[in-house]
Amino acid sequence: MDPRLAADLADLPDLLTAARDYAAGVLDGLDDRPAAVPPPAFDPVPLPAAGLGAAQALEVFRERWAPGFSGSAGPRYLGFVTGGATPAALLGDWLTGTFDQNASARVGSSAVDLERETVGWLRSLFHLKDDFDGTFVTGATMSNTVGLAIGREWLGERKGVSVARQGVTALGDITVLSGAPHSSVYKALSILGIGRDQLRIVPVQPDREAVDVAELDRCLSETVGPAIVVANAGTVNTVDFDDLRAIAALKGRHDFWLHVDAAFGGFAALTAEHRHLVDGLDLADSICIDLHKWLNVPYDAAVQFTRRQDLQVSVFQNAAAYLTAPGPDPDPFHLTPENSRRLRALSAWFALAAYGADGHREIVARNVALARRFGAEVATLPGVRLLSPVRLNVVCFGVEGDVEAILKAVAASGEAFLTPTVHGGGPALRAAFSNWRTRDGDVDRVLAVLREVLAE
Ligand SMILES: *Cc1c(COP(=O)(O)O)cnc(C)c1O
Repeated sequence: MDPRLAADLADLPDLLTAARDYAAGVLDGLDDRPAAVPPPAFDPVPLPAAGLGAAQALEVFRERWAPGFSGSAGPRYLGFVTGGATPAALLGDWLTGTFDQNASARVGSSAVDLERETVGWLRSLFHLKDDFDGTFVTGATMSNTVGLAIGREWLGERKGVSVARQGVTALGDITVLSGAPHSSVYKALSILGIGRDQLRIVPVQPDREAVDVAELDRCLSETVGPAIVVANAGTVNTVDFDDLRAIAALKGRHDFWLHVDAAFGGFAALTAEHRHLVDGLDLADSICIDLHKWLNVPYDAAVQFTRRQDLQVSVFQNAAAYLTAPGPDPDPFHLTPENSRRLRALSAWFALAAYGADGHREIVARNVALARRFGAEVATLPGVRLLSPVRLNVVCFGVEGDVEAILKAVAASGEAFLTPTVHGGGPALRAAFSNWRTRDGDVDRVLAVLREVLAE
């Protein structure tokens, strides 16, 4: 054994304690860490021949890298849609690495059963019926990709061909329809060989990002053969929701696969007040829900739900002499792009075991209340106007002046981080509330820095 490796093995308990103490300090200081840091100039060093040992590597990391890391796990990082990691979720993440299970198959470990229990918990959290199967993937982009891959296989079934065997060209023309899809849907279509240009944008309702269902009906009437519809439950700009029930009702007259991108909007299902926004989610053929956003587990975790696990197996099965063939109860490596895979369900298991449905409902309700309050108060600042009502957890607003310069000044203060967007043809700002730590005092601090920057 390499002498440094042998020494680390001997010192393992002390090394873990050192890492724990350091981590505790980082988390303790999260409130004062700048929300975002402009990355300093980066000067890569050559690969060391003889290593430093873990204790020294920790020192180098602390000095060289940690100062440039953002406070994105903290309460005032309001860019994109960003969650943090609850205490239990973090424990789960540490133990994922500690046990280092390969959650690819039910061989010699109950890791896969833990994943299944977690999927069951998520199914009930989102009020989905038992006929939905679910798998963990790395994020919503991959969840959309897997859902659309199953939809692609379904198109083959309808046309009497197997895409998994014959390739996507066997399908001929493919129609994918959506109102205001996330950029990752285009990426998924590119990965799947369907092509970004095949996505036909359906008109949305006036001043909304929700699809006009009558227009969708018309587009489907113009489509020859089966289609894929991507419905959106929570758009990133204005958190708008398609009418999922009305879209699903179109299945009475048209033949289509209904994929719902509910990456973070799915969490509306947790509160009685907002559950109506995802009414009809249960009628989807496949559903994407991100977990590293509003479940507040560390990156990388999302769940993909579908009712057609048989088609999922057609796409992803990995047959080999030494592996079990996919039976009625297929192992994960017959269901996801990966074969060997991290037990990424463990963080979610810990979070749900520790805080339950009630704890997660409280996070969602509090984030929504904070977004509403922020929306109401930011609208009173000079030159600010809300670009849409605050439907859930994101505030989208316009300002007089240079959006980029304003966002830079906000970030430079260290107090907050917001990201830009384009809405209604013009530049806009977004503040997204999805971190479990955020409280009223944080909204005060973000408003204070915005007030200052806008007055300059
Ligand atoms: C964030 C997001 C995605 C992509 O999620 P990743 O986790 O970054 O892959 C897809 N759809 C919606 C609506 C999102 O908000």
